[in-house]
Amino acid sequence: MDKKTLLAVDDAEINRKILSKLFSNEFDVLEACNGKEAIDVLNKKEGNVDIIILDIIMPDYDGFYFLEKIKATDYADVPVVISTTDTSPEAEERLLDLGATDLIYKPFNPQNAVKKVKAILARHEAENQKIKITASSLEERHTIVMRQTNTFSAEYDFVTKKISIDPEYSSYVHRDFCNIDISDPSTMIGLIYRPDLDAVVSFLNVGEIRETTQRYINIRILTNNNIYEWFRLALTVHIEDSVKTKAIITFNNINSEMEAIKKLEIFSSVDRLTKIPNRNTFVEKTQGIIEENKDTKFAIVRFDIESFKIINQLFGTYEGDSILKFIAVKLQEIIEPIKNGTYCRITSDLFAFSIPYENEDLLTSVIDTLVAAVKMYPLNFDITLSFGIYIAENSEYSVRHMLDRAGVAQKSTKNNYKTHISYFDEALREQEEIEITIVSEMKRALENGEFKIYLQPKCDMRTGKIIGSEALVRWLHPEKGLISPRSFIPIFENNGFITELDYYIFETVSKQLNEWRNDGVPILPVSVNVSRADLYDPYLFPNIVKIVDKYNIPHEYIEFELTESSFISDNHKLVELTYNLQKAGFHVLMDDFGSGYSSLNSLKDIKVDVLKIDINFLPTSTSDERASKILASVVSMANALDLKVVVEGVETREQADFLISIGAYEAQGYYFFRPMPVEDYEKALKAQFEASQK
Ligand code: C2E
Ligand code: CA
Ligand code: CA
Repeated sequence: MDKKTLLAVDDAEINRKILSKLFSNEFDVLEACNGKEAIDVLNKKEGNVDIIILDIIMPDYDGFYFLEKIKATDYADVPVVISTTDTSPEAEERLLDLGATDLIYKPFNPQNAVKKVKAILARHEAENQKIKITASSLEERHTIVMRQTNTFSAEYDFVTKKISIDPEYSSYVHRDFCNIDISDPSTMIGLIYRPDLDAVVSFLNVGEIRETTQRYINIRILTNNNIYEWFRLALTVHIEDSVKTKAIITFNNINSEMEAIKKLEIFSSVDRLTKIPNRNTFVEKTQGIIEENKDTKFAIVRFDIESFKIINQLFGTYEGDSILKFIAVKLQEIIEPIKNGTYCRITSDLFAFSIPYENEDLLTSVIDTLVAAVKMYPLNFDITLSFGIYIAENSEYSVRHMLDRAGVAQKSTKNNYKTHISYFDEALREQEEIEITIVSEMKRALENGEFKIYLQPKCDMRTGKIIGSEALVRWLHPEKGLISPRSFIPIFENNGFITELDYYIFETVSKQLNEWRNDGVPILPVSVNVSRADLYDPYLFPNIVKIVDKYNIPHEYIEFELTESSFISDNHKLVELTYNLQKAGFHVLMDDFGSGYSSLNSLKDIKVDVLKIDINFLPTSTSDERASKILASVVSMANALDLKVVVEGVETREQADFLISIGAYEAQGYYFFRPMPVEDYEKALKAQFEASQK
């Protein structure tokens, strides 16, 4: 075989010589001393270059220049390996974003560098070939990829619905792996590490994919040694003429890579990006200081940048990183001189510090200095910091717990536009206590049947007739009395208990409908709420069906209220669930439509049956002309799309009249009915039924 050609771009002659020497056995090596010359070489060779090794920092025409320029040439496909000394993941990410194929690190390790570059080239060629080769040459493609990397692959054909798996698979993962049925997550249990299972299920869900794309996930898979090892899965879905043809999954064993990263993190005491102490170091050091100074009060402070995400989006992650480094430097300058002061970066834009606290003076001056320093950062954007403070009076709590409390205080500033500084105070402490009670009692409460459903009728405003209801949970606490879902649902959503509770509600509602049916009570649809957290249960849909079918309830009598997630990444789960539920004959309502989470935009992806619009999401009075217009046009749009509309939160006659005037007839609100115990609802139903018989 002919030798391949490699182009080494580096301003330092010594580096070019090293590369020449390393690679001359395997490649014809060309050299260039800056980005411009490199482009010239490519042009002269008319694309006869197979791979490029590129230095980034060079005078005049640097690596960035080259990456930018090559995109516009015919050689945009030639793989570019960056040689760099910067091993930070941030630098890696940035360079890959700019179009680099991979990175090698200076100083070069002779054997590894050559191996790695060859593997990159092989992978690149295999990937390029992949597009051209059809299924018939599966074997060939597999071998190309396999030879060079720790990889095996599997291919799913959407037409024949068959999976072909690389026969080599069993040298990487457990031999039972071939028994997995990707449409049935239960077949993965034991072969895929349980905590990774949900992620795998959503990873494999390609329902919403519309164009050829690739995505990645790192998970742990059982090997023949009966241990779990890390694999990176890459999934490519091919689409031709908007039809899915096949999906290819490659499995790349990255166990040693992951272990190396873990070790690095444990051993390192500083934060990778900013080089100031990391969280672990902070916790340890602060713990020690507090224990040695039992009579001193300390202020534990957590702070972050408001809307940091937006800054990243507007100015790019590079600018974002540079702000973080700037803050780290300022924090260091301010805290370092303070005796017994400690500080760190926790993660992303979250920082913390701890200083002795005699009175507010020192703390105030630290915060003021920090805020003033950040204002100096040259950016066309107001950088606002928000602070949460916990004052530690004794060392009864661990520093981790104190940080959590500072975090709780910090969160409370988020609902407040005026103040960006908040102390963990008595009110928050009470809240914390309530949370502790709620969490410690929730399991027992569920077993004791303390969770009750209330039903709130939905009615047709023109006739006042009940047309269905929504099940809303209440906690009937033996001592504390009736607790509103607004105080416990967010906590359950955080700790995952909501899913258990929701199943209980689904079951209670099904049971109740069954009872009514047996007793000859006329039944109307009941809707139940599905929390966003429920979507993380991979068995949500089959479980719903199991519960409802246990009581033989026709599916049109149970409706599901879903809220769109603020995290776009979750939305494919929502799309999938909606699809499954509807296919099984259930109705799906989009709850809280217009709340900001849900939007007109989402209607194109999620095909619900009913929009629930909360009138309180609109500016208060209906006399407000704009609000009325918005509502009216949403209703007419919904009508045009054949979507039913239910308006929630209707409290006054005026609201009802207005809604009828714009063609929205169904409502749920205090003006008509409040949520009521099941017995009361039953009475109302019976009364309505009897009236209609007359
Ligand atoms: P949601 O799903 O938006 O339910 C409607 C809420 O609005 C209910 O509050 C209801 O009592 C209240 N509401 C009804 N009509 C009016 C009105 O005219 N004016 C006003 N101001 N409010 C009205 P509730 O029962 O306190 O429930 C609060 C939230 O808790 C629910 O909001 C829902 O997100 C959640 N939730 C309740 N039960 C469950 C459940 O079983 N599972 C899950 N996952 N979440 C639930
Ligand atoms: Ca609801
Ligand atoms: Ca709602």
